[in-house]
Amino acid sequence: MKCLIVDDEIFCREFVATLLRTTADCDQAGGGSEALDMYNRALASDEPYDVIIMDIMMPGMSGHDAAMAIRSIEKEQKIDKRVNILMLTALNSANDAMDSFCNAQSAAYLVKPVSKAGLFNVMTKLGVL
Ligand SMILES: [Mg+2]
Repeated sequence: MKCLIVDDEIFCREFVATLLRTTADCDQAGGGSEALDMYNRALASDEPYDVIIMDIMMPGMSGHDAAMAIRSIEKEQKIDKRVNILMLTALNSANDAMDSFCNAQSAAYLVKPVSKAGLFNVMTKLGVL
């Protein structure tokens, strides 16, 4: 399984990568636009990601904007098998807003701090595990 971990904090990326070490091949991006570049490169080389784990709060392009950009690329290129997107949200962000965003973008979300049980639970629900 191919996974892209997107977070502006390297500690968070490394932590998620450690949790998935025996489960997925993980690449990392430090921001939304870098994530988009890597997403496009993976598509172009016909090795798309199975799951993108995306922090929301990042300087520059946010996780929200990057997720929406990915969905519009999939729509433009008529990609049937859409990538699973798992948004990482802070504890204090409004859950109603997250629910409606994730419904609109066919994404799931997980509240930080990420635990192994929480991560594997949501990845099972997404059908990637
Ligand atoms: Mg952040």
